[in-house]
Amino acid sequence: MSTISNHLPTAELQALDAAHHMHPFTTNDDLTAKGVRVIARAKGVYLTDTDGNEILDAMAGLWCVNLGYGRPEMGQVAARQMNELPYYNTFFQTTHVPGIALAKELADLAPGDLNHVFFAGSGSEANDTNLRMVRTYWAELGKPEKSHVISRKNAYHGSSMGSGSLGGMTYIHEQGGMPIPGIHHIGQPDWWSEGGDMTREDFGLARARELEEKILELGAENVAAFIGEPVQGAGGVIIPPSTYWPEIQRICRKHDVLLIADEVICGFGRTGNWFGAQTFDIIPDIMTVAKGLSSGYAPIGASIVNDKVAKVINACEFSHGYTYSGHPVCAAVALENLRIMHEENMLDHIRNVAAPALQNALSALEDHPLVGETARSGMMASIALTPHKESRAAFASPKGDVGYMCREHCFANNLVMRHVGDRMVISPPLVITPEEIEVFATRARKALDATYADLKDKDMLKAAS
Ligand SMILES: *Cc1c(COP(=O)(O)O)cnc(C)c1O
Repeated sequence: MSTISNHLPTAELQALDAAHHMHPFTTNDDLTAKGVRVIARAKGVYLTDTDGNEILDAMAGLWCVNLGYGRPEMGQVAARQMNELPYYNTFFQTTHVPGIALAKELADLAPGDLNHVFFAGSGSEANDTNLRMVRTYWAELGKPEKSHVISRKNAYHGSSMGSGSLGGMTYIHEQGGMPIPGIHHIGQPDWWSEGGDMTREDFGLARARELEEKILELGAENVAAFIGEPVQGAGGVIIPPSTYWPEIQRICRKHDVLLIADEVICGFGRTGNWFGAQTFDIIPDIMTVAKGLSSGYAPIGASIVNDKVAKVINACEFSHGYTYSGHPVCAAVALENLRIMHEENMLDHIRNVAAPALQNALSALEDHPLVGETARSGMMASIALTPHKESRAAFASPKGDVGYMCREHCFANNLVMRHVGDRMVISPPLVITPEEIEVFATRARKALDATYADLKDKDMLKAAS
């Protein structure tokens, strides 16, 4: 076996990567031509690549490294748990302390009577669990036909067959025979792009009422559940109008449709509360969690389930589970993550320090000619790029071309900011300091300036007609 280390020349690592490593959501041949960036280490909010660049990670990895990188306690807990009990399953009438303790902790943190936890290895897996669980719930109650699930266009719930079908991204559906049957997608509450002349509030209500229309079209007796992210993350950090979620909850209750909040990004402080459901004042029947549950230090996800659903599921044998459901090392790491969040009063830091600083940085960017609106909920935010602010116009170029250019300029300025279409999205580690947010703001402005100059050069500042 050969040893591959950070000390190999970057070009050699890139060549090995290109030869053997298939990247997710990537045209690998294009990446090979361009040369992949090799991340060697990270500390706090900064990544270091093998060429020694220090890159501010305003995405917390993939929305997950909430504690920031390089927290030694996390590694210590993982090592201790690996030595004590690296693995045991929870299928065969057995359990273990990290699984028990994490389930109890999640039940304590979750709102309402969400008191029961089914573990998974990721957000995708947990949403697959949810799909089977809600259908099983209604079947056990003698209503097997109450099986359809309603989601939203441009939602992201994962990329497995089940979770990718629940999601509403057409480019995902185009590959591999998705969506699977019985899943329906209504409009998203994206006022900036789709609200036309309506007020935000009216638009929020109108989009929520699409749920009721869809339920009536399918027949409420056929609809098992509605699923939505409190704030759509991968869809571009779309913050719904304040009227949206209360109306969704009202409609679900009226028609006896289970409400699933996909909290994979919103959970664990991202929106300024423990869960996005609390930020938007709803109490779902099931919440999906992953990502920030362990700050990305170990792969773990879960479905947190209320008393009503758990009572039915616990009375039957739910023929479902993953080898790594409640993995003791991942559970121990997640517990340590939550312990640190409590110890460091992370919600106070977000509400009183980090979110106000992020808001200042965003507000200051609003005078930039490319910036249409900035949107923020807690520590997730987005910047809509536009050629014409007043009309909220899209660019004439194919959607995403300008966003991609901006992302490349960010990268060139040692800033990780992702783009979704022509929206830039921001989700930094929750521990980020006001000084680090200043660095973010400086680099973001440089990238926006460079993008603007580029667009001018290429005559791309034109609005779509
Ligand atoms: C990332 C994400 C998922 C999928 O989680 P994985 O761990 O990548 O499977 C599901 N839902 C939301 C809202 C996400 O952001």
